[in-house]
Amino acid sequence: MAFEGLADRLQSTLQKIRGKGKVEEADVKVMMREVRLALLEADVNFKVVKDFIKKVSERAVGQDVLKSLTPGQQVVKVVNEELTALLGGEQSKIASSGRPPTVVMMVGLQGAGKTTTSGKLANHLRKKHNKKPLMAAADIYRPAAIKQLETLGKQLDMPVFSLGDQVSPVEIARQAVQKAKEDHNDYVFIDTAGRLHIDENLMEELKQVKEAVKPDEILLVVDSMTGQDAVNVAESFNEQLGLTGVILTKLDGDTRGGAALSIKAVTGLPIKFVGLGEKMDALEPFHPDRMASRILG
Ligand code: GDP
Repeated sequence: MAFEGLADRLQSTLQKIRGKGKVEEADVKVMMREVRLALLEADVNFKVVKDFIKKVSERAVGQDVLKSLTPGQQVVKVVNEELTALLGGEQSKIASSGRPPTVVMMVGLQGAGKTTTSGKLANHLRKKHNKKPLMAAADIYRPAAIKQLETLGKQLDMPVFSLGDQVSPVEIARQAVQKAKEDHNDYVFIDTAGRLHIDENLMEELKQVKEAVKPDEILLVVDSMTGQDAVNVAESFNEQLGLTGVILTKLDGDTRGGAALSIKAVTGLPIKFVGLGEKMDALEPFHPDRMASRILG
C-alpha cells in the first residue's frame, strides 16, 4: 500500500496523544518531533516539513485545543486538517470545456506512465462521466509508443488518432482536435513525447503543441516512486509550459509518498489523479481529505 511507512509511524505517534485527558505543550513538542522525523523519512521536501511542523505546532498549542475536553483528539484533528491542506485541500477536478472537445495535453518523462495513463483517463471519463474521448498518438520518437496507444485503444474499444511517425507532433495534435470536433468527441487526449531527461528540444516542441491547440489542461504524468525528483520535474515542466495539474503514477509501489506530500506545496499544482497499478481501471481521482484520513488511520 502507498504511504505504508509514513502511515505506520504517524499512527503510532498520534496514538500516544489521542486518548490523553490532559495535554501539555511539552507533549505536543515531543509528538511534533516524531511527526517531523516521519515526514523526513517519507522523503518529504525539507522546507515543506518545516512549514508543516510550524503550522501544526502553532495551532495545536492554542488554548482552544489544549483546554478543550478532548485535547488529544483535537491535536489529531489539527494534524488531519493540515495534512489535508498539504495534499491540496479541495479535490481538483479535470476541466470540462463549455465548447467541446476539452483538449488535454499529457506530458512527462519517458517511462513515467504517460501513454498508459492517457488510456486510463480516457477510460475513466467514459465509464464514470459518460464522455466520448479520442486519444491522439503524438509521441513519434519512442519506438512503439504509437503502437502501444493503438493497442490500448483496441483493448478499450476507444478511437485513436494517428498519422504515423513521419508527421510533426504539432500537426498530429492540430488534426486530432479537428477530428474530435467532426466526430463530436468531448475529450481529446494528446499523448506527447517524453525523453529520459528534460531537454530544450522536448520543451520547445511541447510549447509548439500548446500554442497550436490551446489545451484546456496540461497534465504532467510523474512517477511517484522517484520522490523529490518528481517534484523537481514538476517544477521544471511548470516553469516552461504552465501546467494545470499532476497525475502521480505508481503510487501502488510507493511506500514513502514524499512526492505526493510535497508537490502541491512546492509547485502550487494540484494532484488530479493517482495511478495505482498497471491495469486500465487502476486510476483514481485524488481526494486530499480521504488520503489524509487513510494515512492517519
Ligand atoms: P510513458 O513512456 O510515460 O508513456 O510510460 P508507459 O505508459 O509506457 O508506462 C511505463 C510503465 O509503467 C509500463 O510498464 C506501465 O504499465 C507502468 N505503469 C504506469 N502507470 C502505473 C501505475 O500507476 N502503477 C504501476 N505499478 N505501473 C504503472
